[in-house]
Amino acid sequence: MGIVVQKYGGSSLADADAIKRVARRIVDVKKSGHDVVVAVSAMGDTTDDLLDLAAAVTPLPPARELDMLQSAGERISMALVAMAISDLGFTARSFTGSQAGVITDAQHGKAKIIDVTPGRVTEAIAAGHIVIVAGFQGVSQDTKEITTLGRGGSDTTAVALAAALEADVCEIYTDVDGVFTADPRIVPNARKLDKVSYEEMLELAACGAKILHLRCVEYGRRYGIPIHVRSSFSQLEGTWVSNDPKPGQEETTMEQPIIAGVAHDRSEAKITVVGVPDKVGEAARIFEALADAQINLDMIVQNISAAATSLTDISFTLPRTDGQVAMTALARIQAEVGYDKLLYDDKIGKVSLIGAGMRSHPGITSKFFGALASAGVNIGMISTSEIRISVIVDEHSVDDAVRATHTAFDLDADEVEAVVYGGTGR
Ligand code: ADP
Ligand code: ASP
Ligand code: MG
Repeated sequence: MGIVVQKYGGSSLADADAIKRVARRIVDVKKSGHDVVVAVSAMGDTTDDLLDLAAAVTPLPPARELDMLQSAGERISMALVAMAISDLGFTARSFTGSQAGVITDAQHGKAKIIDVTPGRVTEAIAAGHIVIVAGFQGVSQDTKEITTLGRGGSDTTAVALAAALEADVCEIYTDVDGVFTADPRIVPNARKLDKVSYEEMLELAACGAKILHLRCVEYGRRYGIPIHVRSSFSQLEGTWVSNDPKPGQEETTMEQPIIAGVAHDRSEAKITVVGVPDKVGEAARIFEALADAQINLDMIVQNISAAATSLTDISFTLPRTDGQVAMTALARIQAEVGYDKLLYDDKIGKVSLIGAGMRSHPGITSKFFGALASAGVNIGMISTSEIRISVIVDEHSVDDAVRATHTAFDLDADEVEAVVYGGTGR
């Protein structure tokens, strides 16, 4: 029988009992005749707790040491899961990301996997062991330093291992029954999706639906690995992220739903560069400085220059965690660019409506904005792609905006079917 690759998130590994429960699930797969490779996250809120500790020690922890610190969280769970498995009479071998051959680039805190060379994993499988790999971490090819893949990165470890080991599917076990039409913590009557395409899942993940790490979906699409998102607390079938029909089902002839879901994100901040001279090359200079500082931007808006002054404002959003670095990089070029001042706002949230059916259905935007208006939500910025509309709103309006949109697009289930089994939602 083939290799089964699974991933258990922190909420599924919150304490000793949870670890024993996960060990039993893993052993059941082994008993059914499969080889099993498991990526694990840090227990519960360990990663947040470690970050809080670092912040208590210094306001600006060196990136290398932050990765060393954070990677310890997954090491704890991999060893404990391996111990719990051996207690059930099976042998397990735990490996750090580096030992498992997860090779990354050198960017601390947001490293990208560039190769997986799982020699030790395949040897351990051949010797009959269950393999447990610490998620979220790797080793840089260039610097040989330990790196981490960004928050939620254990999902990506799992899919990358599934691709390298040529597994048929990657199972992501979490604290809800699958991917829902909105975060069940905000919309209790959200609906579970049986299936979602890579394309829609990419947009959902990119827009903050933290149920899956964005790069895990990219990886799955590139290598054609179906991702089965499901609960470690139930035996229910979850959501299949794939472009193929669900295993065992014919492709449905029904038209696909227009909307896949509503996503929200509270992790961004907005910077406005006020009074930029309206001449060739100014925007290039500003965004060059941000690129040099390794900052990933999201929405960008430039106003038409006021005719009287020939000055324009440029606003953009970025991860809050990069806010300080971006402000410093921009302050450095103030004299050169000649802008007036910088404004920083981290009390914002982003709400996005996603669906492949949008391409062929007019009127989606007006319905979306109408729903926001009825809920009394003011729109700060707007951006669109072929299958997505996103708006920036006040941080405190996010929940109202998500619920109003969910209802306006008839996504509400008649009965509450979303169960949140665990986790703190942190
Ligand atoms: P894990 O610890 O298993 O990695 P995460 O907390 O990273 O779990 O992700 C699961 C959480 O994602 C859920 O508890 C839920 O609150 C949140 N979530 C956000 N958007 C969605 C969505 N569209 N469908 C399901 N869960 C979502
Ligand atoms: N432990 C890491 C985090 O909390 C990685 C993960 O859970 O996927 O972000
Ligand atoms: Mg996660």
